[in-house]
Amino acid sequence: MSTLHPSGKQLWRLREFVTGFAGLLDARADEAAILHGGAALLRQLVAQDDWLPETYAQPHPERYQQFLLHADSAQRFSVVSFVWGPGQRTPIHDHTVWGLIGVLRGAEHAQSYAWQDQTLQPVGERALLQAGQVEAVSPSQPGLHDVHQVSNAHADRVSVSIHVYGANIGAVRRSVYHPEKGRVPFISGYSNTTLPNIWDLSIEAATS
Ligand code: FE
Repeated sequence: MSTLHPSGKQLWRLREFVTGFAGLLDARADEAAILHGGAALLRQLVAQDDWLPETYAQPHPERYQQFLLHADSAQRFSVVSFVWGPGQRTPIHDHTVWGLIGVLRGAEHAQSYAWQDQTLQPVGERALLQAGQVEAVSPSQPGLHDVHQVSNAHADRVSVSIHVYGANIGAVRRSVYHPEKGRVPFISGYSNTTLPNIWDLSIEAATS
């Protein structure tokens, strides 16, 4: 299949991804299996940078953007494009649910944190994630962490990553952690009000 969407993008890749991910969850996989199987699906999705419509890859001059690409009808998972302007970064934050991060364009730095004696401490070295690479976060899986800080590894260009979470992440009550203010409640929301239409199969039927 190689049908172009009117956006000029291979949007079917996103549809196949969300269909595959829903199938994984329908199989009642446990979280470790979701992260394992889901990472393989996400690796496949970010292996090609030809499908994300430009609307959902636009940076903002002041802050990173978080565009919802798909929400599962039962809110079991959501798919989001994060768009990082040059040098932009998140605060230190948690997710409270499992998450997968795949770099589509550019590169990102990711630093995990863990609680030690009631303070957050960096865990290990800051990771450099290049385009095509996938990593996971989780509050409950051994060897993974729920708290991290992510930044664009490039000071002079945009990076884009595709994230999948085990909830409608923009609506989840979670926290950011400031050096002075401490823990601050946080509901991220989304930067967009419309979603990419991955479901108009007539486009493919008309051109195949
Ligand atoms: Fe995060």
